[in-house]
Amino acid sequence: MISRDVVIVGGGAGGIAVAASLLRRRPDLDIAIVEPRETHDYQPGYTLVGAGIFTPGKVRRTMASVMPKAVSWLKTSAAGFDPDNNRVQLGNGGAIDYRLLIVATGNRLDFDAIDGLTATLGRNGVTSNYRYDLAPYTWKLVQGLQDDRALFTQPPMPIKCAGAPQKAMYLSCSEWERAGRLGAIKAEFHSAGEVLFGVPAYVPALERTVERYGIDVHLGSNLIAVDGPGKTAVFKSTSGEESRSFEMLHVTPPQKGCKVVADSTLADGSGYVEVDPSTLRHKRYPNVMALGDAGNMPNAKTAAAVRKQAPVVADNGLAILDGKEPRMAYDGYGSCPLTVEKGKILLAEFGYGGALQPTFPTWLIDGTRPSRLAWVLKKDVLPSVYWDAMLKGHEWLAAPKPLRAAG
Ligand code: FAD
Repeated sequence: MISRDVVIVGGGAGGIAVAASLLRRRPDLDIAIVEPRETHDYQPGYTLVGAGIFTPGKVRRTMASVMPKAVSWLKTSAAGFDPDNNRVQLGNGGAIDYRLLIVATGNRLDFDAIDGLTATLGRNGVTSNYRYDLAPYTWKLVQGLQDDRALFTQPPMPIKCAGAPQKAMYLSCSEWERAGRLGAIKAEFHSAGEVLFGVPAYVPALERTVERYGIDVHLGSNLIAVDGPGKTAVFKSTSGEESRSFEMLHVTPPQKGCKVVADSTLADGSGYVEVDPSTLRHKRYPNVMALGDAGNMPNAKTAAAVRKQAPVVADNGLAILDGKEPRMAYDGYGSCPLTVEKGKILLAEFGYGGALQPTFPTWLIDGTRPSRLAWVLKKDVLPSVYWDAMLKGHEWLAAPKPLRAAG
């Protein structure tokens, strides 16, 4: 039986960032990361791949290159959690014991929940920026579409990066506008939600963007089926079911807690790890923590949130290992850079309860107005913040706040 002081499950944004932050604080810490994938993606870049701004190569690196040298990498998946015995069952048939478990498995993209979708993804004009292999197809469709109807969908919350469905739509419209084809293309946004964006401060600027591109917005309209060869999508709303024909369909898949988490006693009723939203410590298992999309905290599920969560989990995790109480708090920060056109972004930054948490003074970047500087930040600065700071334990603008001060 293998045993480690710290076992981290998942080597995505959260898993690698928290390992790096732990090692910054305690370089000789005994850590294992359980992660089966050979590659690691900068998922916030998928939107820019779908708009022809980034090449796919810019958002993918080998897992080996981001894995901190001091950790043991177990190249297998977690097959089950047994927190009563401090044990994780592994996909390779083994098991690993821990003193502290950190769950960072992300969330599950449930393309199969929509009837007919999986069979037609990547063909017949059906795409999704939520998958690395499909984002280039989005850009191909955008370039090829001359006229007819383009549908963009958003499922019920929670989803990672709640702005990503609209980002795909606005960047596509921006390209059609540039190419002089926007008048011939009819874009429609179908969202299962009842508002354009969950934080009211950003809605007026989004409404102006919708008007500019002539987008037909259908709120409370949820995609339930796709017929790829027939180029038809079916939506359900309170007034019944409606079929819409399309030439291009960009789908944001419904999202759930990972199955291995949802099937375990770590999960709450919704399938996410049940943690205290401030300390990120499990509510029932004191030596278990979670961060990123796997947790049930009510923040915007973003890499920006992970940047702030990792130092909190590192600090509190070490306190737990030392037999002390957690001292640091996460304030719910998340960020969604809404790409309203090629060259401008609405930099939505907010915490728990929708409280605005701007990083920059308003005179530099006013998050409620489209900003060129925010575009430069997203395109040229944030990728290096991710690869070179966050994944290396440099906690840029992410110093954890003591529990008392955070609220
Ligand atoms: P992930 O990064 O998804 O990593 C989870 C890891 O866990 C994966 O490596 C996976 O292989 C592993 N794993 C899963 N199950 C198991 C298992 N059983 N055993 C072992 N390992 C397992 N964020 C922003 O901040 N800004 C943006 O503009 C933005 N835009 C986005 C646009 C799109 C299209 C998408 C898809 C995401 C976007 N995000 C954005 C969200 C951001 O990428 C995620 O919130 C972030 O990656 C979450 O990190 P994570 O570690 O929780 O999950």
